Amino acid sequence: MTPKEKKILNFTKKTHPAPIPQEGIEQVVKLMKTGHLFRYHFDAEICEETIPSDLENEPATEVAKLEDEFSCYTGHKYVIAVNSCGSALFLSLKAAGLQHNDKVLTNAFTFTAVPSSIVHAGGIPTYVECNRQYLVDIDDFKRKIQANPDAKFFIASHMRGYVSEMETLKALCDEAGIYLIEDCAHSLGAKWYDKKLGQDKLVGHHGQIACFSTQSYKLLNSGEGGFVATDDDKMAAYCILAAGSYEKLYKKHLSRPFDDKLFEAIKLSVPNFSLRMNNLTAAILRPQIPMLEERISAYNQRYKQLANILATADNIDIPSSLESVIPVCDSLQFNLINLTTKQAEKLIQDTSERGVKIQLFGHKDNARYFKNWQYSFQEMPVLKQTDEIVCFACDLKLSLLFDTNDIDLMGYIIKDTLYKIVAAENEVDYPTGLVHHFKNVDEVISKYDNWVSNYDQHHHQNGWKGLLNHVAYTSTSYLNEDDKILDIGCGTGLLGKELSSYRFKNLNGIDISEKSLQFAETFNIYKGLSKAELGKTLDFEDNSFDALVSCSVFTRQQIPLNSFEELIRILKPKGLFLLALRVEDNDFYYNRLKKYYVDGVLGEVFKTRFSVLSSCNHELVLVRKLA
Ligand SMILES: *Cc1c(COP(=O)(O)O)cnc(C)c1O
Repeated sequence: MTPKEKKILNFTKKTHPAPIPQEGIEQVVKLMKTGHLFRYHFDAEICEETIPSDLENEPATEVAKLEDEFSCYTGHKYVIAVNSCGSALFLSLKAAGLQHNDKVLTNAFTFTAVPSSIVHAGGIPTYVECNRQYLVDIDDFKRKIQANPDAKFFIASHMRGYVSEMETLKALCDEAGIYLIEDCAHSLGAKWYDKKLGQDKLVGHHGQIACFSTQSYKLLNSGEGGFVATDDDKMAAYCILAAGSYEKLYKKHLSRPFDDKLFEAIKLSVPNFSLRMNNLTAAILRPQIPMLEERISAYNQRYKQLANILATADNIDIPSSLESVIPVCDSLQFNLINLTTKQAEKLIQDTSERGVKIQLFGHKDNARYFKNWQYSFQEMPVLKQTDEIVCFACDLKLSLLFDTNDIDLMGYIIKDTLYKIVAAENEVDYPTGLVHHFKNVDEVISKYDNWVSNYDQHHHQNGWKGLLNHVAYTSTSYLNEDDKILDIGCGTGLLGKELSSYRFKNLNGIDISEKSLQFAETFNIYKGLSKAELGKTLDFEDNSFDALVSCSVFTRQQIPLNSFEELIRILKPKGLFLLALRVEDNDFYYNRLKKYYVDGVLGEVFKTRFSVLSSCNHELVLVRKLA
């Protein structure tokens, strides 16, 4: 554990949800003093047996205002606030005319609230497989439609904000006469490109109804809460009544069809399910709506940073959204590939001990794993594809309280843990060459030239990337993103990739192996790459670089001691030189560095021990050029 890691390890304390804006807090206090918490609260003079007909002229309550404001945001004609998204889904099915034992198609990868709402409404969930991007598998959707011609409802759940190919799904639904409900609980603010309009549009307009959540883990936080949103007059009237608007209370809605006959015609046949939102919840939510865009971009920025760090790990696959979708990423998901179940579980366990809480969707206790929805089927459904995916699918909540350092640290910990697990399993030590004796430089060159094709694979298997990750992460504490950095002995670009994953942009590399350089070139992470031999004159001006980095390059048999002269020359005054030295070679090179200390040319910033392989420990040394 690095000192920096210790210092901010408490970042798990930052995972709590977004705080309530002051304005909301004050409004809640006001409401509590008046006691007007019911969304249809009566003033004294109207608290009579007959309700006056001018209900509409009364001041609107918090909930009515919220519905109106939320409909302005999402662009739906009508919005009905309820007490949860689960309730919203339930209402939608009822409004769509679901009868007892009707089948409802829905995603096999979603949250338990979705199948639960189907069961609550009297339906029978029929699950559709997901693909590696966590989207509805279109082929399986077609198969399920064919196998269940009596299924007339589909809840498309945009699980964790992953929006499926809605245009295709919508067309398939229309063709089969299937009623489409969108579960937007976790996709508020996400956009998709509307080809007809030629512009981006908020998600939730493909189906006849869209449902939203304001539970604390979602973008809007009121603890509990939800919305039904629709453009359909009859659906809106039904939902308003069924949510708990009795007598003439529908008149108190601002966001409603204003044809009262719609309500009066069905009023007596619609049950009151008492799913209303109360004024306190609405007061908490209203000031959060104008903050949505800012929240979304803050989350997406954090997501991008962490995804970029994790992307260099061979065993991590981060699903991308469809090209037509602009997602809202308040959490990060990734698939573990080529790991055993045991290794995956160990990753969860070990990262958790280091403060990073990751969940496996396919865990035996996870409410997002279809096998745990036994209330919804008599026989376990066969969903092989989804099963294989969710058992290695990881979920990591992001928080707006995470700063750049927190995210770097999270990424570092996840990769570090993963690299250690992979190395322990493979028990591959450093390939031959560590103690190799070379007669001349040509032998060194040919060793690395011949190694290119499987160099990265070797270094992945033996956990070497743990060292590179450590060097790159350590650099974030001392170097700036735009610093001009020279990667000495860059080889195939392994260190460059790790550095660029932590946002270092101005990377340059030198190496003795032409073949390695050609390979490194293909990743487009270096601004400049050139062949150079350490110990000889380097083709750079004096004071060219803000920093030099090198990872286990200074090997006694390969690099002469006098190479430091040239490196110091091309480093800017006050510039930093970070070296990971192998312990066996430590005295050889370190003693030379100490000479520079005595001469006042270099000053030591720190020196720490880092173990990577059983045969090979490193000293991480950071020095500064003094003048
Ligand atoms: C949170 C969530 C729900 C349920 O929302 P509640 O408001 O808690 O009922 C449904 N679907 C998805 C995809 C969710 O993430």
